[in-house]
Amino acid sequence: MYLSFEQLTKRYGEVTALQDVTFGVERSEFVSLLGPSGCGKTTTLLLLAGFEQPTSGRILLEGRDLSELPPEKRGVGMVFQHYALFPHMTVAENIAFGLVHGVTKRFSRSEAMSRVDRLLDMIDLAPLRKRKPAELSAGQQQRVAIARSLAPEPRVLCLDEPLSALDALLRERLRLEIRRLQRELGLTVLYVTHDQEEALAISDRVVVMNQGKILQIGTPWEVYDRPATRFVAGFIGKGSLLDGEVVATGGQIVFKVTSGAKMAVPADCWCGASPPRAGHRLGVLLRSERVRVTLSNDEDGRSDSSRLGLSGRLEEVEFLGAQCRLQISGPAGNLVATAPAAEIGAWQARLGSKVTVFCRVDDVRLVPW
Ligand code: ATP
Repeated sequence: MYLSFEQLTKRYGEVTALQDVTFGVERSEFVSLLGPSGCGKTTTLLLLAGFEQPTSGRILLEGRDLSELPPEKRGVGMVFQHYALFPHMTVAENIAFGLVHGVTKRFSRSEAMSRVDRLLDMIDLAPLRKRKPAELSAGQQQRVAIARSLAPEPRVLCLDEPLSALDALLRERLRLEIRRLQRELGLTVLYVTHDQEEALAISDRVVVMNQGKILQIGTPWEVYDRPATRFVAGFIGKGSLLDGEVVATGGQIVFKVTSGAKMAVPADCWCGASPPRAGHRLGVLLRSERVRVTLSNDEDGRSDSSRLGLSGRLEEVEFLGAQCRLQISGPAGNLVATAPAAEIGAWQARLGSKVTVFCRVDDVRLVPW
């Protein structure tokens, strides 16, 4: 493994910011740390960069324990949410700064200038090279900050919520640019975000964290389709997450939801590590794009061997552009479904009606509580 975090724990007095965090990053891999505010994402980057020391555990980069190296010798580049560009320097001077004044001084002035030219082309800002940061838009400033951190060829590039100060359209455009740069240069990237959509869109793998611990590591599809815990299921993607209880296990898993309805699904719908046991609570995840809603007057009990049926009342219809989202409340809990955008009028006319939400049994995901 190119970069390894081994049983990393960090305490600030009483606060445990990270506990036993272990994961690896391959060379040229794009890995995101995803989790809510305060879960320890930034702390992980600060330990990697050497700005903080771990309470226990270690970090290896290409097999070498980084605790032997001061921050400037680690080869770790950092970009923060609030780009700290030097206001009195031009764009080109900002990018060149780390090359000609850096502690390592690896580059001659002419080498540095040709690297700056190449980076300016890559971020599409060559014509603005003589401008000062104050004469740039927020997105342009962040591109300069990224180019500046790339200039000394870091062994790992850390990006800490680099897009969160930008508007939605610009965020989407810049994240594509970051991914393109990462692929072109073969960069190893550790990317911190609390935005699950961003993490799913940009990463090779996602590390989902909460309260200083890793809950799941996987490809975007794995963490979306097979969330390992109830927290991951609720944090990533949209869907209904119902309370359930295991009734029986075997070839199939039989569970009941709070309305009392019992259902059986194939054993591989279970996403937890250890097998479920009868009597245990579980989360029942129905992704909103994998359910179908029909008008009905029936209560629960429309399930058969191929599909689950849950009754409810259509409470809200939201227009999302490409689709509409239906919010339904029923005895099993709150349900959410998406429907084609063209159906918006028909569903709005049915607000308050009784409906049944159907899900194919293969599409149900059961997660540990
Ligand atoms: P955010 O998305 O809000 O930046 P984060 O996931 O990056 O959050 P961290 O900044 O790593 O979270 O913080 C993890 C925990 O450690 C939090 O509870 C935070 O309050 C605490 N913490 C961080 N730095 C310090 C510090 N210097 N002293 C005391 N507690 C700290």
